[in-house]
Amino acid sequence: MKKLVVLGAGESGVGAALLGKQEGYDVFVSDRSTIADRYKAELKDQGITFEEGMHSMSILEKTDVLVKSPGIPDHIELITSLQDKGIDPISEIEFAYQFCTSRIIAITGSNGKTTTTGLIYHLIQKSGISVKVGGNYGISFARLLTEQDVPDVFVLEISSFQLDGIRTFRPEVAILLNITPDHLDRYDYDMEKYAASKMRITKNQIHGDLFIIDSAQVHRINDSSALEKGEPELALVSMDLTEEGVFDLDLDNEFIYSNPSLSGKHNVFNTQCAVFAAEWIGVDPDYIEARLNDFENLAHRMERLKPIDDVQYINDSKATNVDAVYFALEALESDIVWIAGGTDKGNDYTVLQELVKTKVKGLICLGIDNKTLFQNFKDTVPEILETQDIKTAVREAFRLAEGSGTIILSPACASFDLFENYMDRGDQFKAAVEELRQEQER
Ligand code: ADP
Repeated sequence: MKKLVVLGAGESGVGAALLGKQEGYDVFVSDRSTIADRYKAELKDQGITFEEGMHSMSILEKTDVLVKSPGIPDHIELITSLQDKGIDPISEIEFAYQFCTSRIIAITGSNGKTTTTGLIYHLIQKSGISVKVGGNYGISFARLLTEQDVPDVFVLEISSFQLDGIRTFRPEVAILLNITPDHLDRYDYDMEKYAASKMRITKNQIHGDLFIIDSAQVHRINDSSALEKGEPELALVSMDLTEEGVFDLDLDNEFIYSNPSLSGKHNVFNTQCAVFAAEWIGVDPDYIEARLNDFENLAHRMERLKPIDDVQYINDSKATNVDAVYFALEALESDIVWIAGGTDKGNDYTVLQELVKTKVKGLICLGIDNKTLFQNFKDTVPEILETQDIKTAVREAFRLAEGSGTIILSPACASFDLFENYMDRGDQFKAAVEELRQEQER
């Protein structure tokens, strides 16, 4: 019996373990931290052995296949010493791929993955083509493959960490949305290494596949050994909406602009990519157009809340880097109070200066250390305040708004200094806005 060791027991690790078991492997799961109870219950239920709080090298080094969860960096000693013994880790996506007979649409990029993944799924759903969605979007690819009903198409959101561990993974449609600085700590602070990782999404594509790519990144196809197997058809999509594209979607299409979930230039871009993918798969263009109307994005991405008086509130807590904030501010009229801050991943705020200068009347810094934000915007924004309390942030923002305009939480930073994660931050923001709204109505 072939041995499979899975390092890390989160959603992707447990998915790989369950699939491995189903495919007849002798599976062992090893996690340095505590494993969540629901995952432990699943492993026990399937008779899969595991350890937590430690890694037993004596077991790990005897494996035939090693699946490493995306959260575990490549360069730590555990991994390098296993590599020295000839055991090369693969990602859960790569492991699962061997057992997949369906068509695959895979989406990567620094920003917009979840939105585009959800939108593609929405456009294909109920079109007559059966579809499942997963990867970084909820359920892991491996777990989806343990299910009995096999769909025609999988739509998969894929992170660069997952791509680092692929060898043969070949999506029929690959989408590279954009490459902007993020997660650089895992790539020796080298943008080129990060970009090369993202380009791996196309490396195994062959003639007859489709690669949808941001036109600003297309030079990378020649620059690197991006295409190893063949040349997929290319579809260039541009952020510059006036640039001539290969794409036939009418960019003034009112369906897109009238849907609040797809507001902003970045979402028109995402929509172009999504429509292109859905059309390629065979969904009828009229059906696609109708479905664009009723797409609702997940929370925390340019999520509009109920206004208080004439003040519009937007929860964009998922904007954890500068680029996402850029497109958020760009999509709004002026008269903005901007709530930002948190764990700064070495942000360069230069690209925001002009937009902030013309549109932002107040900045609330919501973080433990707000020095960088203060220094960057003290000469650009008329009013800057700081707080570590989200309720205070919401109230102060309301005061600065003076009855009109937009208050947006679009932090440009990770949330871990004050919150559990971006969802917790967004939920607390929404609760604070709701509390204030009820007070104002009394
Ligand atoms: P991801 O899954 O890549 O983090 P999301 O769809 O969750 O992407 O969006 C994260 C943030 O990025 C949100 O604030 C959203 O408004 C913004 N965003 C979405 N699409 C793009 C894009 N194409 N370019 C820049 N920012 C984007």
